[in-house]
Amino acid sequence: MNTNKPTLLSDQWVERSLKAVWHPCTQMKHHERFPLIALSHAKGSWLYDQDGHRYLDAISSWWVNLFGHANPYINAALKKQLDQLEHAMLAGFTHPPVVELAEKLSALTSNHLGHTFFASDGASAIEIALKMSFHYWRNMGLSDKREFICLKNSYHGETLGALAVTDVALFKDAYGPLTRHAHIVESPDSRNANKGETAVDAATRALKDLEKTLQKNQGKIAALILEPLVQCAAGMAMHDRSYLVGARQLCDQYQVHLIADEIAVGCGRTGTFFAVEQAGESGIWPDFLALSKGISGGYLPLSLVMTTEKIYQAFYDEDVSRGFLHSHSYTGNPLACTAALATLDIFANDHVIEKNKVLANAMTESFTWAKNDSNIEHFRQKGMILAFDIKESVTSKLFAKEFFKEALSKEILVRPIGRTIYIMPPYTLSMDELDILSDGIEKTLHLVLQNKD
Ligand SMILES: *Cc1c(COP(=O)(O)O)cnc(C)c1O
Repeated sequence: MNTNKPTLLSDQWVERSLKAVWHPCTQMKHHERFPLIALSHAKGSWLYDQDGHRYLDAISSWWVNLFGHANPYINAALKKQLDQLEHAMLAGFTHPPVVELAEKLSALTSNHLGHTFFASDGASAIEIALKMSFHYWRNMGLSDKREFICLKNSYHGETLGALAVTDVALFKDAYGPLTRHAHIVESPDSRNANKGETAVDAATRALKDLEKTLQKNQGKIAALILEPLVQCAAGMAMHDRSYLVGARQLCDQYQVHLIADEIAVGCGRTGTFFAVEQAGESGIWPDFLALSKGISGGYLPLSLVMTTEKIYQAFYDEDVSRGFLHSHSYTGNPLACTAALATLDIFANDHVIEKNKVLANAMTESFTWAKNDSNIEHFRQKGMILAFDIKESVTSKLFAKEFFKEALSKEILVRPIGRTIYIMPPYTLSMDELDILSDGIEKTLHLVLQNKD
């Protein structure tokens, strides 16, 4: 550890933090009962607090970390870039890291999405995709196409534009008056399959609902936005890939853009680099694809939207107002792009997509106990996301918080969503760490369910 500050004990840092730092996704008063942890450093899959306790980062620090903390390869790349160019404006200037990153990402889509617009966080990428879609139609003389469709229980970020296509009751109740109305269509969530139905049936039913909405609002819809394969924040709601094929077809038929929000499911998380590659036999390509979270390996804020030649050309003109009007101070930050390039290097050099298949199988195997536990339902997995639900009849309202707290005491960081427990670990998780994780979650669950009775 190379810190020049005097080491304070966890308690002191926590006390100071609670006075000065307003934490995200938190009712601050709950910290009277639930812990805030003061970190000191991290290495690989582990976070270490100021008192020397360790926590296995089973959710990749909110789904961002792909190759472990303090990854030697990414660290080295960043240190080199730091002495070269830390940041400069991207308007009127360019630099190797941003060019190489855009080129490499384009190649990963077989150049279907050859134009990349950069921002810093996921929500901003969603704002960009929504604005670009609307602006494209306006440039085409179709300015009535200004409404959006999203899925039930969708999550696309928390700025006002992104919130408009986010279907979370808590946010709607609080900020609904500030947001635009979006059309919400049925989710293809496989858990919606009725008795005797398959995941494909659930997807087909959801497609019918989508078609109904498209039909009813012809000429008014700019885009459909969805999270391919897994609606992560909805509680790792997984759906059949046939939904994506059907959605692509319907979008083409009704002249509506398809926005794939791969902020969480991209970068290998579901078993292919992009989740849309798994749609049908040969995959589909959306009109816009948003990435963030894992793209910088979990190192630096970076997000981006990739789009097609056709859309790019609709903006290409002498007229400024036909150009895309959007900018962020840190657009294309060279350090963030360098972290992303190092991340893509690791994917290629270490054959990560192939190796993850082995790790994903080991995950299934190690959670066999959960498949057979009578308190558990809807055991499911998509690549490096494994999830299951605790039956409603045995959980309490505070289940997620209590589970989080109890798991920490067993050196594990997991944050259930409602009654869904999931793991979304770094791809560098070792077999020993997987054992610790599975065992810790099983023991925690028994303890929490016992305390409830
Ligand atoms: C996290 C997330 C976002 C928002 O990204 P931020 O960087 O938190 O703004 C948007 N969409 C999905 C699917 C996400 O998981």
